[in-house]
Amino acid sequence: MRRYSCYVFDLDGTVYRGDEVIAGAAEALRELRKSDVRILFATNNSSQTEASYVAKLSRMGIQARLDEILTSGRAAARYCAAVGIRRVFVVGEAGLAETLIDEGIGVVNFNTLRVHPVEGAVDAVIAGICRDALSYELLDSAMQCVLAGARLIGTNADATYPLAGGRFAPGAGTVLGALAACTGIKPTVIGKPNPYMLFQVLQAEGIAAADTVVVGDRIDTDIMFAKAAGCTGILVTTGVDKEAPVGTASIGGLLELL
Ligand SMILES: [Mg+2]
Repeated sequence: MRRYSCYVFDLDGTVYRGDEVIAGAAEALRELRKSDVRILFATNNSSQTEASYVAKLSRMGIQARLDEILTSGRAAARYCAAVGIRRVFVVGEAGLAETLIDEGIGVVNFNTLRVHPVEGAVDAVIAGICRDALSYELLDSAMQCVLAGARLIGTNADATYPLAGGRFAPGAGTVLGALAACTGIKPTVIGKPNPYMLFQVLQAEGIAAADTVVVGDRIDTDIMFAKAAGCTGILVTTGVDKEAPVGTASIGGLLELL
């Protein structure tokens, strides 16, 4: 297969499913690292920090550096900082709240990530996957923030995500859908397919989009992300989607990239 100077890998459904590494992924990455290519992992899952993804990959025998991990949570936090959003209400998990705080954004419900009426105005509601704390009351608090003028920003809009054993679970898109329904507001979505998180790296490092390939298991996020960024997209059939659209290459596993 053609060589690129930058390889962008989705994680869920591409490198692993839940806590199980996908066959051939570790070997393919080890092989790729023998040549001088930039490797990035771009995930829409905002629940974890970059450090937790590095640790998770390491448990699977995959070495990765912090600066190789792109998350929708980090992208959303940088977006907030860039557009002057300073104070937010989070419908999400601890990793998202920590990442926002790390970028200097105030999280009014940090350490609770639950209910509670919000004192004073917030600039935005940031919604992502929210497995521990999602409740009617949390949605209600977020809804009141938006009705009071806060922007509605989603880390990503994936309806589902794949788990080990072939099961799928509700994703951030489910949470965002609920908030869009009760507020009547169309959210701004920062994660894939929005190319925002990749553009930041390509621009900073002078990497040409035409020399970059995105490998992922979802057409509506990964392949559309590649298209929006001007990169090549390759569908891997180990996750959600099994059939590539016309004009898009597909592979049965990451070893086929070599
Ligand atoms: Mg995926």
